[in-house]
Amino acid sequence: SIPLGYFGGIGLASRNGILFKGSNFLDVMTGIDTVVMDKTGTLTKGVFKVQQIVTAGLEQRELIRFAAAMETNSSHPIAKAIVAYAGDQAQELKATDVQEIAGNGLKGTVEGKTMLAGNVKLLNKFGITYPAEIDELVDTVVLIAIQGKYAGYITIADELKEDAKQAIQQLHQQHIQTVMLSGDKSAVVNKVAGLLGIDKAFGDLLPEGKVEQVQKLKDEGRRIAFVGDGVNDAPVIALADVGIAMGGLGSDATIETAEVVIQNDQPSKITTAIRVGRITKQIVW
Ligand code: ADP
Ligand code: MG
Repeated sequence: SIPLGYFGGIGLASRNGILFKGSNFLDVMTGIDTVVMDKTGTLTKGVFKVQQIVTAGLEQRELIRFAAAMETNSSHPIAKAIVAYAGDQAQELKATDVQEIAGNGLKGTVEGKTMLAGNVKLLNKFGITYPAEIDELVDTVVLIAIQGKYAGYITIADELKEDAKQAIQQLHQQHIQTVMLSGDKSAVVNKVAGLLGIDKAFGDLLPEGKVEQVQKLKDEGRRIAFVGDGVNDAPVIALADVGIAMGGLGSDATIETAEVVIQNDQPSKITTAIRVGRITKQIVW
């Protein structure tokens, strides 16, 4: 039989906007010593805005039309920013054969020209050179290549969630180590980690790279909660001792796999979940 305190714990969590899928996870939560987080959508709002457009030999308007034609075929938050910025121009050209290359971006054809829209890894993959200044940028960057040649870049920025810094501070007060994993540019990831005071951060990760990092921490004996929102996060959510999903922004796969769902997407609810676990344990034992 399940002790009464656990029902109380689940109810208390639920009144705080935290859904526990089983009473045992209240207990597991109290033993967590490491919280691993995704960046985009977990610590940042996940709503990108176009900041800057830099072109090489073509007009800005032209670059945006090409980029938006490609990005109309993607549901990535980066794609949504470019399509929103392009407005009506997003429909002027049509892209065909668009392929999403995980962790890198898009490959396709626009107006009979082969196109790439993605990060530096994508251009490197196809042996396309780009100006060195791009590596120095501390914003998320979408590079565009047309017919195998670099054609320009678009910088995109996201905002920190209001309670992100507080969430990290609270975890540290609970003596919990904080780790951030992201597929975004390392320069951006390190900037965000610095602003929030996160202990360890790793960028430029492919989805399997996130799994490797969590496995490494597990092998070191750490007890891990992973917090994420994306489709790519489902494997790490499954691997962690407790998987936590951001319920508002999260993909169905993530919410399905997670044991705990934070309904209003506030990262400060991570410590609330741990506190509820601890209170429940005191009542039960
Ligand atoms: P994360 O969610 O951690 O940012 P993703 O695997 O979703 O990781 O994306 C990693 C990187 O791949 C992005 O930061 C971006 O540089 C690139 N990328 C992914 N999808 C697109 C896209 N549709 N257009 C341009 N770049 C993309
Ligand atoms: Mg993601």
